[in-house]
Amino acid sequence: MTPSTPAQAPPAAAAAPHDHPTGALTPWDEYNQLLVANVHPADWINPKPTGRYNLVVIGAGTAGLVTAIGAAGLGAKVALIERHLLGGDCLTVGCVPSKCLIRSSRAAAAVREAERFGVSVPAGVQVDFGAVMERMRKLRAGISDRDSARRFRDAGVDVFIGAAAFSGPDTITVGDQTLRFRRAVIATGARAVALAKSNLTPDKIMTAGAVVMLIGGFLMTHITADVPDWELWTWMLILGLGIGPAMAGFTVVVQNSVSPNQLGVATSTLTFLRQIGASVGLAAAGTIFSSSFANRLPTTLAEAGVPQPLISQLVKLSGALQNVGNGRALLEHILTGPQQALIPKVIAGANNALALAIADLFWITIVSGVLGLACTLLLRDRPLRSATELRSGSLASPELA
Ligand SMILES: Cc1cc2nc3c(=O)[nH]c(=O)nc-3n(C[C@H](O)[C@H](O)[C@H](O)COP(=O)(O)OP(=O)(O)OC[C@H]3O[C@@H](n4cnc5c(N)ncnc54)[C@H](O)[C@@H]3O)c2cc1C
Repeated sequence: MTPSTPAQAPPAAAAAPHDHPTGALTPWDEYNQLLVANVHPADWINPKPTGRYNLVVIGAGTAGLVTAIGAAGLGAKVALIERHLLGGDCLTVGCVPSKCLIRSSRAAAAVREAERFGVSVPAGVQVDFGAVMERMRKLRAGISDRDSARRFRDAGVDVFIGAAAFSGPDTITVGDQTLRFRRAVIATGARAVALAKSNLTPDKIMTAGAVVMLIGGFLMTHITADVPDWELWTWMLILGLGIGPAMAGFTVVVQNSVSPNQLGVATSTLTFLRQIGASVGLAAAGTIFSSSFANRLPTTLAEAGVPQPLISQLVKLSGALQNVGNGRALLEHILTGPQQALIPKVIAGANNALALAIADLFWITIVSGVLGLACTLLLRDRPLRSATELRSGSLASPELA
């Protein structure tokens, strides 16, 4: 079922007045005229502000309207300022129009699937998109009375139409009027910003990620006890920047290796394997770390000036020396007499062994980074299978269509 243009042009296609901020509302038919008459009346005369307002609300979208009417209901002296259409995004382009379009889509889907339920529909049924939009404008105009300037004025809110700007700590200007306030609420909503155009495709991002991760991982293999903190932070930052995009490579591998109807299972399995991988990885890292620490300890103790006979004793305690603080309490307990003077040297040597053992762990990162990079480079020219097959229609089924 394809949308078609309406057989008849919508009525009253004259444009909105040029000097009107609602000129973008096209066509300027009876429905849009009713909408504007409610939420931005051309003949609206802003009230004369008298005294100080308890509350001034800038922006009459959902947030501003609710705030203003709630405060007025509690007896506050309230001003509400709107530069465009009261009702904001929700009434004009968001909640209300989208629900109208969704309802029409549902009707179209029901007709398309009617045969399945034993209802014969003549061939050639079309969606009249112009009529869909006209219905939307009609419904929107119909409920715009709820957000109308008049209704809020009648509820005790001073409604100002115009752009608001702060002119002092307790003053706001609208046109040539200045409003004094005790409290102000900025309910000016959000604007969409177009994403910066970029030539970065996912495979380039993943490749760059893997390279950055490898650089970070390589730097981390150079950790020693002497590396200053700022340098270590920089290395970790580089590593962290690369890890996310690089690891996405594994998802691409899975998406390309299974058929579309197995994609859900494969993705769940990948998540499961990641969790197992994290546990196994931690266990492997622990083992590599402990053995690396034990291997490096004799050398680093000797470099720190610890005498050889004591080193042989200390190596047997390598597990305890791995702790943060390098087992100072234990050392104070077991080293007696003149040996106590050697404690700072032992700690310095153990510290360095600790740093070097941590550095060794980063070879795991390098191996996984090279794997990720290889997968990305090998598969980068292959479009994601799910996307291609969705486009070609091979995924179409009565349930999905
Ligand atoms: C397609 C779509 C569908 C949506 N569907 C739903 C839904 O089903 N349910 C739901 O809860 N939400 C939905 N939303 C979200 C909803 O529309 C927004 O959350 C809501 O409109 C935000 O309200 P707001 O008051 O914060 O901002 P806005 O609605 O943006 O209102 C801000 C107002 O401030 C005015 N303004 C800005 N600056 C000034 C100024 N200097 N002086 C005077 N006035 C100013 C603007 O003109 C505007 O009218 C949908 C949004 C979209 C886009």
